[in-house]
Amino acid sequence: MIFINMSKNIFEKIRDGEEPSEIVYKDEYVTAFHDIYPSAPIHILIIPNKTITSLNDIQEEDSNYLSNILLAAKNIAKQFNIHESGYRLITNCGSDGGQEINYLHFHLLGGLKLGKMISLPKSEKKKQAFRRL
Ligand code: AMP
Repeated sequence: MIFINMSKNIFEKIRDGEEPSEIVYKDEYVTAFHDIYPSAPIHILIIPNKTITSLNDIQEEDSNYLSNILLAAKNIAKQFNIHESGYRLITNCGSDGGQEINYLHFHLLGGLKLGKMISLPKSEKKKQAFRRL
């Protein structure tokens, strides 16, 4: 017998209004809400309204969702008044990328001077960190 797990993950529940969240923006293509454990004064998660597991899983037909995520990011940055000071938009993909929730999402971070792009663990820094793999 094949068992199919139909239960929704947390971001699907937030998208569908079945889990409380602080939604800051919603339209036909995207939903955006405050990250529950913010890493910066402004930390918003932007998700497509279609279930896509990660960047690895996007298809050409998803282009409307992806372009609207970028537009939403720009508008939300303005909404939170960080459009001039600057911000960062990140998506984590897979285990090495640090993805914890298997639903494509973009972190919009701002409200302070963000540090370096990535901070490597000390053990990695000791190695020749930037050699080509
Ligand atoms: P990632 O590590 O890229 O998968 O990021 C997942 C993010 O989701 C983390 O920054 C979490 O703090 C955030 N998160 C987890 N559960 C919730 C929730 N219920 N509402 C808002 N953000 C959440």
